[in-house]
Amino acid sequence: MYQFFIMILSNERKAIVTFGNKMLNAGLTTGSGGNLSLFNRQENLIAITPSGIEYPDLTPSDILVLEPGGKVVDGTNKPSSETGFHLALYRKRPEVCAVVHTHSTYATTFACLNREIPAVHYLVGFSGNKVPLAPYATFGTEALAKAVTSAIKDYNAVLLANHGLVAVGTTLGRAFNTAEEIELVARLCYQAETIGKPVILSDEEMERVIEKFADYGPGSGDKDAN
Ligand code: 13P
Ligand code: ZN
Repeated sequence: MYQFFIMILSNERKAIVTFGNKMLNAGLTTGSGGNLSLFNRQENLIAITPSGIEYPDLTPSDILVLEPGGKVVDGTNKPSSETGFHLALYRKRPEVCAVVHTHSTYATTFACLNREIPAVHYLVGFSGNKVPLAPYATFGTEALAKAVTSAIKDYNAVLLANHGLVAVGTTLGRAFNTAEEIELVARLCYQAETIGKPVILSDEEMERVIEKFADYGPGSGDKDAN
């Protein structure tokens, strides 16, 4: 007699494990820092990393499945302490289906200075014409969820003062790419400021860049459906 277990949101849970390890290997976080989630809006269910488990130790069954209100539907671990801002971002931005939170060092350096990241390089367009800053609130609190959702507006990334970065996207691949490119821009801004005064691109130029991003790429369809 065979028994088959069907794991709900199994593709999303696998993708969370893959991108969690990518985040660690790309140097965007350390230990169990940061967290990721993916919202399947058709099923109305969210897959999110557990709290405090290191990425290389994660398997798909460690990933929690939640209802948008936060009720655990599947999984025995404790959901990420930042579940509050993940869920709040999905409520605020109907097009967003993925949230990636990192502690990447250069972006977090700006967050520690309580400074936004300006348009020193066109790749800031992954966020918008800058990366805005959410004021400090203790990790894992409702106050942090409120600060993040009010500061992000229509941007795809936001710095969390004295903490890290949050990137959002329509897919996990896009949210991850945004976190990675914003880390590069933060590093360039830091380096440029060590030897001079960087030239900031105008809002008008950033509008052009963001428009061009819409049809950038090989144009053979969306390869990263997650
Ligand atoms: P979790 O392990 O609970 O997701 O917390 C990590 C983190 O980055 C808190 O801000
Ligand atoms: Zn964090």
